[in-house]
Amino acid sequence: MRVICDSHGDQGIGLACIHVAGAIDGEAISGCYCSSATDMARPDAWCQDCEAALLDQGWNEDWFKAADFKILCAACWDLASQRFGMVKSASTEV
Ligand SMILES: [Zn+2]
Ligand SMILES: [Zn+2]
Repeated sequence: MRVICDSHGDQGIGLACIHVAGAIDGEAISGCYCSSATDMARPDAWCQDCEAALLDQGWNEDWFKAADFKILCAACWDLASQRFGMVKSASTEV
């Protein structure tokens, strides 16, 4: 899957929770986590709160819905990764 980004043009994609996606141009967030395997250009990314909920509940549909994942272009995803110091999730389910 590809996306045409206003800033970066034709790019592969990565998903980010609504909190990470909303923080790219706004207020910084304190933590950022990502999954391992993916068939997209970048893994899924989420914030500290989503990570805490994931570790607490385990992966499930409700968690996925609450995270409200948005599509980011790979370059925007990379900016978020650098800005927020992305690390791999501690969950073994992702
Ligand atoms: Zn989040
Ligand atoms: Zn972009």
